[in-house]
Amino acid sequence: MTTTDAGKIVDKLGRPARDLRISVLDRCNFRCPYCMPEDQFPEGYQFLTRQQWLSFDEIERLSRIFIQLGVSKLRITGGEPLLRPDLPDLIARLIKLEGIDDLALTTNGALLSRMAGDLAAAGLHRVTVSLDSMDEEVFSHMSGGRGSLAQVLEGIEVAASHGLGIKINTVVQRGINDHTLLDLLEHFRGSGHIVRFIEFMDVGTLNHWNLAKVVPARELRDLIHARWPLVPLEHNYHGEVAKRYTYADGAGEIGFITSVTEPFCGNCNRARLSADGEMFTCLFANRGTDLKGALRAGASDEQLLELIGKVWLHRSDRYSSQRSTGNAAVLDHDRVEMYHIGG
Ligand code: SAM
Ligand code: SF4
Ligand code: SF4
Repeated sequence: MTTTDAGKIVDKLGRPARDLRISVLDRCNFRCPYCMPEDQFPEGYQFLTRQQWLSFDEIERLSRIFIQLGVSKLRITGGEPLLRPDLPDLIARLIKLEGIDDLALTTNGALLSRMAGDLAAAGLHRVTVSLDSMDEEVFSHMSGGRGSLAQVLEGIEVAASHGLGIKINTVVQRGINDHTLLDLLEHFRGSGHIVRFIEFMDVGTLNHWNLAKVVPARELRDLIHARWPLVPLEHNYHGEVAKRYTYADGAGEIGFITSVTEPFCGNCNRARLSADGEMFTCLFANRGTDLKGALRAGASDEQLLELIGKVWLHRSDRYSSQRSTGNAAVLDHDRVEMYHIGG
């Protein structure tokens, strides 16, 4: 295997596997139009069954193997991960794994006020709460009419009161929520919670993406800078995807995730595990590698290590970079949906 000096595996472009995103189920209590549009996921939609979900034993075992290959950061995601029964039990297991220095969770926040205490007690370090607007109507539209803004804000407060680090993820869509972003920043300035604006991405095939709906982070940064001057910050670590800024007046930090206009494939060190146990090496992949099949067929740890190692070793994904250079071939292929692999 090709490895770094520290003996960790690297892919064909020299990128190590540092970060594993674990989707714990594909269901969600929201229907954000940019992810799970209501018309495509109506009542009665056939999501994965419990038997298809990886069990906590299976997730723990695979996590150990990813750690052997170099992973040190885990993020629990979904669908909506807080809908997975007994989630704090999984957190308590994962936090004990040797080699993990960061354990985080991404949630829409609807159930957070109820669960934050148990998650913190189980050892979770941080939560990222997705919140697209502080305007009730815009929020309602962007959660597919399912979410309550008050509930999400309460979830953030309760999580903070339990000592969880908080980031806010805001997907930006032109003409939909871009007129409400300064209000959102106003709300969180000075709170210590870092807001990160995410360019609307062409993940999946169901969300009617087009470039005109993307607000380039540059444009947004200039708008914010005109109101509250910003100072750029260095990356915290190699492979960090957010471009970080601090308010010049000391009111805290914000970030931009520029997946469309300034892709960062060169540093992409993320592996993804779907709820039904497929490994994906890119958000825009059209197929994954079935690890659950191998697990349930009785593969040994060595065999799983070999299988996962090979997938990483052969990885050459750089979809966003190719898209930005207008490579039409990459735009045409099928893509896995975001709710399936968790973003
Ligand atoms: N349900 C949880 C949530 O919303 O936080 C976790 C899963 S969700 C798929 C993970 C992240 O992906 C969220 O922050 C969401 O806003 C983001 N996301 C989903 N679809 C997106 C898209 N088309 N472009 C950019 N970000 C997207
Ligand atoms: Fe659900 Fe998250 Fe997708 Fe919204 S972004 S539909 S909350 S999985
Ligand atoms: Fe990583 Fe794929 Fe996104 Fe590039 S397009 S940053 S390889 S997930």
